[in-house]
Amino acid sequence: MWVRVLGSAAGGGFPQWNCGCPNCRAVRDGSRPCLPRTQSAIAVSADYQRWFLLNASPDIRTQIESFPALRPGEGRVTPLRAVLLTDAEIDHTLGLLLLREGRSLELHATAPVRETLCDGTAILRTLEAYCPVTWRPVVPGDEVSLGGGVSYRAFDVPTTKPQRFRAGPEEGRVVGYRLTDTATGRAVVYLPGVQDLTASVRAQLDGCACLLVDGTCWWDDELIRLGLGEKTARAMGHLPIDGPAGSLEQLSSLPIERKIYVHINNTNPILLDDAPERRAVERRGMEVAADGLEVQI
Ligand SMILES: [Zn+2]
Ligand SMILES: [Zn+2]
Repeated sequence: MWVRVLGSAAGGGFPQWNCGCPNCRAVRDGSRPCLPRTQSAIAVSADYQRWFLLNASPDIRTQIESFPALRPGEGRVTPLRAVLLTDAEIDHTLGLLLLREGRSLELHATAPVRETLCDGTAILRTLEAYCPVTWRPVVPGDEVSLGGGVSYRAFDVPTTKPQRFRAGPEEGRVVGYRLTDTATGRAVVYLPGVQDLTASVRAQLDGCACLLVDGTCWWDDELIRLGLGEKTARAMGHLPIDGPAGSLEQLSSLPIERKIYVHINNTNPILLDDAPERRAVERRGMEVAADGLEVQI
């Protein structure tokens, strides 16, 4: 199975249009070694022909064009077979609107995510005015065949982040995906938003070959210390990398072949190739994704 990182930045991308933080200034003026990054999404395939998209970022058009395997063949036949959503965040779903020229779209999402996309952000209701959408309800725990030699199992990712568009049960607001190559049994876990590596979340990582995990912030108080916001990373639903309870400490010892940070906020020092924080991640056997990273498991 192939995993292609289409976009490796968190919401806003790198640089972010209204941000003049040290990282965003550095990537604009080239004063430090770092690569610009688009907003987070990955594509997976077991045969390099049929592709499944995990999250639809606002940068989807550029992401498709920059990856030859996702471009159409003759006519308007796309290799993109379905879109799977982890949640209803704007940076993970706005790209759905940019797929409106499609003949149809197969969309995998939990019931709460679909409800938010219909009645909250209205992204899905707008899309459906242009393109027929087939909703495949995602039920955590169920093993689902996507065809093309890929199956998935979604799992609930608990979060206390306030709900912007709906009141109601928390379950299913945020999920992670464990995708399996049905021929080899090898699996990849996609977890771009995780507030806490609970026992139930950690259990989903058992035996996977590759983990793509939330690398939004290095410090829990990253936005506060830069004077850019008042919320901690955890309050925004993201476990920080640093610290005794951080993701680096918790994940680096796990026996997973590739452990890769994705969904990296533009404020995070790991974006700078020469930062000590980047070296700390790599020394512990973890990786920092850039756009276009491809992993074969
Ligand atoms: Zn996001
Ligand atoms: Zn910035």
